[in-house]
Amino acid sequence: TSGLQPAQERLVAEGIDVVRLGYADLIGVDRGRDVLVNHFPRTVGGGVAFCRSVFGTTPRGGVVDFEGGLSAGLPDVVAFPDLSTLRPLPWEPGVAHCIADVFNPDGTPALESPRQVLRQLCEQFATESITPVVGPELEFYLLAENPASPSGWQRYGEGTGNVYTSGRKGDPENVLLESLRQLGDYGIDVVAANHEFSSGQFEINLWHGNALDAADRAHRFKDAVKELARRRGHLATFMPKPFNDEGGSGYHLHLSLQDSDGASLFDEPSAPDGLSPVAHHVIGGILAHAPAIAAVANPTINSYKRFGPDTLAPWLIDWGLDNRSAMVRIPPERGSAARLELRLGDASANSYLAIAGMLAGALLGIRDKTEPPEVLVGYGYDTSRAAKLPQSLSEALDALEADDEIVDLLGRPFVNAFLAYKRDEIERFRTWITDWEFQEYTYHI
Ligand code: GLU
Ligand code: MG
Ligand code: MG
Repeated sequence: TSGLQPAQERLVAEGIDVVRLGYADLIGVDRGRDVLVNHFPRTVGGGVAFCRSVFGTTPRGGVVDFEGGLSAGLPDVVAFPDLSTLRPLPWEPGVAHCIADVFNPDGTPALESPRQVLRQLCEQFATESITPVVGPELEFYLLAENPASPSGWQRYGEGTGNVYTSGRKGDPENVLLESLRQLGDYGIDVVAANHEFSSGQFEINLWHGNALDAADRAHRFKDAVKELARRRGHLATFMPKPFNDEGGSGYHLHLSLQDSDGASLFDEPSAPDGLSPVAHHVIGGILAHAPAIAAVANPTINSYKRFGPDTLAPWLIDWGLDNRSAMVRIPPERGSAARLELRLGDASANSYLAIAGMLAGALLGIRDKTEPPEVLVGYGYDTSRAAKLPQSLSEALDALEADDEIVDLLGRPFVNAFLAYKRDEIERFRTWITDWEFQEYTYHI
């Protein structure tokens, strides 16, 4: 506990009087408590208790039971701050955010916790002396209030920008520009922001880093983008496919692997495609386990409405060299920048889980020496050539449950909790009447 006092002194010197201790729940929402700085050192040594319902609460306020949850009387989980993640919030003077790791009261890791799931995967890679390096890219929509629209919202800058439109033309109130600056000041290490294909749709790229660091930054990114929009009275949404006639929001993940000397395990200048056997195995593993990975990369009912032919979202389980119609794209750079881009995930994914799912597929590909199918050339939506991705969340959850190798790597306690949570979501939706049904069936039938 000798490190505690300096932590508090540093905080006070920086004008911090509150530490927001947070961690990702199953759906990637930051759950936390605001702790006054004089009590913070104690939390470093002893942790802060939370009700275990944190891994079962739904956006509408229900609590889904999972093993060790409601039916066990909702015992505690204890969150311990990871001091290396402490960052002042640039837009909330006096407040710093600190990411926590979640444990059971007996000191063992709470294995439902997404950050613990990813930690376990990173440890598996460490036993092979491999460091996974991840670069997240997130797309999202900004919405502005419009009391006249049925939802109360309309797309920010409706009718203005198109892809790569710069400046006020597509970002009339500089929301994107200001968000980019604030995210940079927060230490998210954002590289660039651009307008996407649809009005009100934007993308921000994060610089790559080791898997846990990339997941921490991406987790904070989503929370911060929503917070920054809200401060202006807007709404930022990571819903995968919010509009029928506009593109969805992807969560692309770039992945490369380094050996213990930091050298690329993907680059192979003498190979015809410039990629090593390990790179091929990683691609093979991700493709072989794609239906199970989809359960965590595409975790909502709405996720499966983003997939489709002739979109820039994937449709088939395939890979291509610099081909944006494939699920796995190999960007043209080689050398230390040799990497893959997994285009499967959508913006609704929990950063820890989407990255863990990708790493699990990659690791299995390396261990099983999985050869990928023939590389896609040209148009990527020909269903006679490759299998389709799952068509629904329910299909993806079944694929996850049936994939023992992936379940072992993500951990049974997590998978059990996740399946319970997501199957409850499916059941709630099953009995909900949508406006599509109303339009289809009221008048003509
Ligand atoms: N919005 C597309 C997706 O859902 C990606 C577009 C792009 O390549 O930037 O994945
Ligand atoms: Mg994009
Ligand atoms: Mg991309």
